[in-house]
Amino acid sequence: MSVAAMVSPLLQIVNQFLGFRGCLFTFHRAASAQAWQSLPNRDFYLNLDFLDEVLRHLSHNGWDIVTLDEAIARTSSVNKSKQKFVNFSVDDCYRDTFEDVVPLFREHQKPVTLFVTSGIPDERMTLWHVGLEDILLNRDQLILEDETLDVSTAELKRKVFHTVSRRFDNFDADKFYARICELNGANALEIHRKHAVTWDMLAQLKNDPLVEIGGHTLTHPHIASLAAGDAFEQLSGCRKRLQEKLNLPIQHFAFPYGRGADCGIRDFQLAQKAGFTTAATTIKGFLRSPNQFLSLPRITLNGSHQSMAMIEAHLSGATAVAARITGRV
Ligand SMILES: [Zn+2]
Repeated sequence: MSVAAMVSPLLQIVNQFLGFRGCLFTFHRAASAQAWQSLPNRDFYLNLDFLDEVLRHLSHNGWDIVTLDEAIARTSSVNKSKQKFVNFSVDDCYRDTFEDVVPLFREHQKPVTLFVTSGIPDERMTLWHVGLEDILLNRDQLILEDETLDVSTAELKRKVFHTVSRRFDNFDADKFYARICELNGANALEIHRKHAVTWDMLAQLKNDPLVEIGGHTLTHPHIASLAAGDAFEQLSGCRKRLQEKLNLPIQHFAFPYGRGADCGIRDFQLAQKAGFTTAATTIKGFLRSPNQFLSLPRITLNGSHQSMAMIEAHLSGATAVAARITGRV
């Protein structure tokens, strides 16, 4: 039995006692059930049928799906409602955010928050993981400096994606990606434009009352590893850029990666200094208090755990407790 399953019955009692709770979910990309099957990096995506099922399940089970603005208002209120709520946020933002994810939320008439890395529509950052996946999907062989790998089946593409991804840690990622593109006849800018969200798409989305837009840095670094000045520039620069391009107040921020080692107290203070009202992590837990606004807990949904049982474990708080017990925060 998993740790999450063991603590579930106890948590039901705790949650009944504490009453009020908000659960913030985040994910990256989404793809049709059929396309999802053969994606080399499919853990990075949710299958749209699953997302559709989750939205229906939550509504039927008494969870309100709200914007972050609404989540903050409910958490700040002295007379806290006992109504349970969920927020969904999409980090980074790719073309599928515009083409698939927002339309699905619209179909359900539910809101969604987008945390945009401004370097993506600005074409200022290398989306090497997106590029590597695209190259693998379109080839039967992957040519590297020292070897040529067979990637003729979906399973091989997945395996090679994971092994080659790990090599990016050992090299200058931009140069390594440029070389892979060169060796395999791929055009990095074309691939970027095929997958990135654009300013034009965001300008259309900002007028949708169901879409809330927040910031996710200029170029997606590990904020905690940067000097304070550079970290501040990533937060403040992104906020300014989004406000300038979209003519919209940007109140919410999400830390890239977002786990304990990726953002700390200094960074929560920098988010406030940069003008954000909230800053979100990916540390599991429930939103219960205004003390958490600059370090919002969020639960990452990914392709490897797409089951309603897992969603229920998240909503009970069991996975958050299990993460603390096993030190995976
Ligand atoms: Zn991100």
